[in-house]
Amino acid sequence: MGSLPDETIFRSKLPDIVIDNNRPLHAYCFERLAEFGDRPCLIDASSGTVMSYSEVNRMARRAASGLRRLGVGRGQVIMTLLRNSPEFVFAFLGASLCSAVATTANPFYTRAEIHKQAAGAGARVIVTESCYVDKVRDFARERGIIIVCVDDPLPEGCWRFSELLEAEEKTKEAEEEEEIVDPDDVVALPYSSGTTGLPKGVMLTHRSLITSVAQQVDGENPNLYFHPDDVLLCVLPLFHIYSLNSVLLCGLRAGSAILLVRKFEISAVLELVQRYRVTIAPFVPPIVLEFVKSPLVDAYDLSSIRTVMSGAAPMGKELEDKFMAKLPNATLGQGYGMTEAGPVLSMCLAFAKEPLPVKFGACGTVVRNAELKIVDPDTGAALARNQRGEICIRGEQIMKGYLNDPEATRNTIDKEGWLHTGDIGLVDDDDEVFIVDRLKEIIKYKGFQVAPAELEALLVAHPDIVDAAVVPLADETAGEIPVAYAVRSSGSQITEDEVKQFVAKQVIFYKRIGKVFFVEAIPKAPSGKILRKDLRAKLASPFQTP
Ligand code: AMP
Repeated sequence: MGSLPDETIFRSKLPDIVIDNNRPLHAYCFERLAEFGDRPCLIDASSGTVMSYSEVNRMARRAASGLRRLGVGRGQVIMTLLRNSPEFVFAFLGASLCSAVATTANPFYTRAEIHKQAAGAGARVIVTESCYVDKVRDFARERGIIIVCVDDPLPEGCWRFSELLEAEEKTKEAEEEEEIVDPDDVVALPYSSGTTGLPKGVMLTHRSLITSVAQQVDGENPNLYFHPDDVLLCVLPLFHIYSLNSVLLCGLRAGSAILLVRKFEISAVLELVQRYRVTIAPFVPPIVLEFVKSPLVDAYDLSSIRTVMSGAAPMGKELEDKFMAKLPNATLGQGYGMTEAGPVLSMCLAFAKEPLPVKFGACGTVVRNAELKIVDPDTGAALARNQRGEICIRGEQIMKGYLNDPEATRNTIDKEGWLHTGDIGLVDDDDEVFIVDRLKEIIKYKGFQVAPAELEALLVAHPDIVDAAVVPLADETAGEIPVAYAVRSSGSQITEDEVKQFVAKQVIFYKRIGKVFFVEAIPKAPSGKILRKDLRAKLASPFQTP
């Protein structure tokens, strides 16, 4: 007697595919090199340089040789502190070729933020631009970290990236000997605070990233999103896993042209879309909002865009409607990702060969070769369709764990291999995933993570603040901004502005505190856990003054 399918486990509407993830990531990405060799691979928007797939492959191999010359080998960590550029791509793929690990950091981070990530990850080399070298110099000297600079003038004491690229290319045989990549080796180490606490290194292996990319673009429905004639706009920062995986790696695998843009500035981006006939535009909701609001949009020919993807933060129906009115010929579909999940959990299938209609407000259906379930956050029981609970995902694409943090790993991935996202959502009658709330602490400013624990630690380090809690406040432009509740030490007259300034000096712009409410005490559970829900509820109600 066959058993009935478990109705609380949701799978893709598309059939599973065979994924050969038992190999190195670079080998998977360049598998069809013979076919794509002469096609455009990277277009650097700032210089107009176009590089073919063969050239990019060659530069990645040279970067690998150069990194080896610096002593980078299996399991060792390089940090990229770069804006979107061909050098980012060479360094990342070069690390993959050396069986090394790339920890990708935001170049706009403050000195302290970069140092924390570099130290936590154990970086041996930092690949960066001359304008950021001052932020890493002292720390690098103390720790014996090598700084590699990708542009001129070369700051003192740094290696020149272009010289590393001049390293002799190895013969294929010599390379194969050196390439002892185990598919379960870590290749990317982005940082994320996950469901609680401080940012942690998320260990993504060759196997997990290959699986995730394959779930998006491989198999029965070839090039679900992308095909070789596509021009992908890569304006989202490559140091975030959304852009690294769903734009760069998916684009390479599909043989598309990837247009690398350093910074989002609406008029420049509109001009680039028109000039290069961009077909796919991966965005986040604040960029979608800027498209909706900007009168400039009507002045450009954007008819080449066939697909706009949005992810990393919630997008409401109203914004989707307004956007569609501006670009009626494009399909707008949401995806749902989380760094720890590899990152893609679900995606809109409107771009598949046999498209499924887009449901407004939905984040698409679970990716292939994966399972998704919704559990009651209190009891852990799996819930049926249309019931709200915590979204959990299982599959080979999820992270191996957090670097050097087995406890945080155990709290996120349970014994049965389910990754608990900390997002509250449901699966509807059509298998569409909706995110309706967030159980976890993180605040998302324009899709960027802000970890309350990090800001709380800074706040209580001030001698005039004895306790603090940071929660999100809804904001039309950013989605959310961090606001603080603070308890002053007895007799202290510290002002809101002083508190804001104190934090602002130590953090990147998007972690700055928008408002400070002074309170007598921070509400806490008997265990000492901050009752964030109570604080958030206070902000949401127009009738209560916090
Ligand atoms: P990150 O690890 O920085 O990618 O952040 C992951 C978190 O962003 C998820 O756990 C969600 O809370 C949120 N998120 C990602 N995609 C979406 C989406 N399409 N809608 C709503 N929230 C999202």
